[in-house]
Amino acid sequence: MRVTVLVGGVGGARFLLGVKAALGLPATGEGESGHEVTAVVNVGDDVWMHGVRICPDLDTCMYTLGGGIDTERGWGRVGETWTVRDELAAYGAEPTWFGLGDRDLATHLVRSRMLRAGYPLSDVTTALCDRWRPGVRLLPASDDRVETHVVVDDPDTGPQARKAIHFQEWWVRHHAEPTAYDIVSVGADEAKVLPAARDAIRDADAVLLAPSNPVVSIGTILAVPGVREALRETSAKVVGLSPIVGGKPVRGMADACLTAIGVETTAEAVGRHLGARADGGVLDGWLVHSGDTADVPGVEVRSVPLLMTDVEATAEMARRALELAGTTVA
Ligand code: GDP
Ligand code: CA
Repeated sequence: MRVTVLVGGVGGARFLLGVKAALGLPATGEGESGHEVTAVVNVGDDVWMHGVRICPDLDTCMYTLGGGIDTERGWGRVGETWTVRDELAAYGAEPTWFGLGDRDLATHLVRSRMLRAGYPLSDVTTALCDRWRPGVRLLPASDDRVETHVVVDDPDTGPQARKAIHFQEWWVRHHAEPTAYDIVSVGADEAKVLPAARDAIRDADAVLLAPSNPVVSIGTILAVPGVREALRETSAKVVGLSPIVGGKPVRGMADACLTAIGVETTAEAVGRHLGARADGGVLDGWLVHSGDTADVPGVEVRSVPLLMTDVEATAEMARRALELAGTTVA
């Protein structure tokens, strides 16, 4: 079976561990089960800092599936040290608010060197995965720049003027506290879906939307031209899992993102926002957490436990999603 999953960072990576386990693959590392998992990963959070290209969602997936993640934090390398960050701060080198770890930095150095030599991000990712062996094909949604920016009151002048800042600055530096008036994907107009990602969606037996941030992870992938078309064309069913449980994000500040685009923070509202595939949207099925309900016209909704407390609970979520997609794991 070929399963293609649209993912962001921490939520997406954890879900992929469960998808692998559900398909009889080891949660981390490589294995053989006759099934193939492809992850189409958000690139909207990617950013240049201190001269290096950082791809937070790709790296979170790569480290999580390769066994190198700091499981407490959910992002970055286990056993990380922070010498370079502290030395940069001692120079007063901006930005000082981004947690650039020493081990992590090596990844960004290799990536930046390859990008500067002309390799596309997808090839760079393949090369990095040669070390990490995630057991999942990790594909950036696009090789082109698609960067999430957030429109806020200008921090220097206040509410008289608004400006767009990079998502990382809003999320990491300001903890999503300044009201977001809009969230835009810079470069999305000219970007193209990675052909391998398009094919992985079109040729899949099941397509799953991880319980990732519906705006800045899933939404940004859907904003890449060609992704919605591939989802329309695939003969596979498309099933999403709600990241909103009991009217709140399970972790993080997705509510601030949803408010910015005028969507309520409920599983139903997110399901309706994604919409039925039969009706110009992307979903055939929508899983909400036990106890939550959702009426999404044209979409089959089921309530099942959706808390990724451990790999087995997450594998069960993946099984229920694959079931709703009409596939059975042999
Ligand atoms: P990020 O890129 O690191 O922010 O991660 P993602 O976009 O992939 O995932 C973030 C989303 O995962 C948040 O909106 C959370 O609500 C959701 N999430 C995290 N843990 C869980 C969980 O156990 N269950 C569900 N249903 N959603 C979760
Ligand atoms: Ca992210």
